[in-house]
Amino acid sequence: MIVTAGLKKSFAEVEAIKDVSFHVERGEIVALLGGNGSGKSTSINILTGLLKPDEGDVKIQGIDPFKNPIEARKKLGVFPDKAGLYPNITVREHLAFFGGLHGLGGSALNVAVEKTIHILDMQEIADRTTKGFSHGQSVKVALGRAMVHNPDYLILDEPSRGLDVYAVRKLRELLLRFRDAGTGILFSSHVMQEVEILSNRLVIIADGKICAQGKPDALKAETKTQSLEDAFMALVEKEN
Ligand code: ADP
Ligand code: MG
Repeated sequence: MIVTAGLKKSFAEVEAIKDVSFHVERGEIVALLGGNGSGKSTSINILTGLLKPDEGDVKIQGIDPFKNPIEARKKLGVFPDKAGLYPNITVREHLAFFGGLHGLGGSALNVAVEKTIHILDMQEIADRTTKGFSHGQSVKVALGRAMVHNPDYLILDEPSRGLDVYAVRKLRELLLRFRDAGTGILFSSHVMQEVEILSNRLVIIADGKICAQGKPDALKAETKTQSLEDAFMALVEKEN
């Protein structure tokens, strides 16, 4: 299980997150739902060990990512909010490099790279360097990089941003397949429709605080609303 408890983080005078606690189990998809600037990326960057919190704890299967970053990172596949790719190496080389960083080698690495190229439908771009890639192509490579080592958990910061309808559908199928194989998935989003289709549980964040958690139907019942969008608005407004 991934557990975050009482996370706080400020950047100078900006209190990015004030009180963030939630958990993610293997075999479930949890959506971190919140508007622009609500603290999704800050929470995710702390969880993945990129950013140190001012207060609070993170445990990845019992491992503290700030005390034991290498062990913690092995459990995670991360799709960050800024997907920097190396422009001068090919897609295949990206995947091999990241698979290698996570301890894969030899034929296991080759198999993992080919499988990732296949499931993300990247055969046609596999031997191109990523310089000049379209947004959607870059997103696919960054997703591949997150999943090439078949991690216990996938942490995805707005994975569908800028993807076309076809690619979003493929992404959904892929996440469901990973979940059914036992991967724990946390993804952030502000798109109600995808959150409703994909997630087993929602964690709603507003203004740096978690204001509600639960299954989509339970949140609708709690707020006596018919749509997730209305439930979200009611929960966020109640907080303010
Ligand atoms: P989200 O991902 O939900 O859009 P973020 O976590 O990126 O939100 O940001 C939360 C708040 O923290 C915003 O007000 C944002 O401007 C601020 N913030 C995030 N990162 C930084 C930073 N490196 N420096 C200053 N302010 C930041
Ligand atoms: Mg963000």
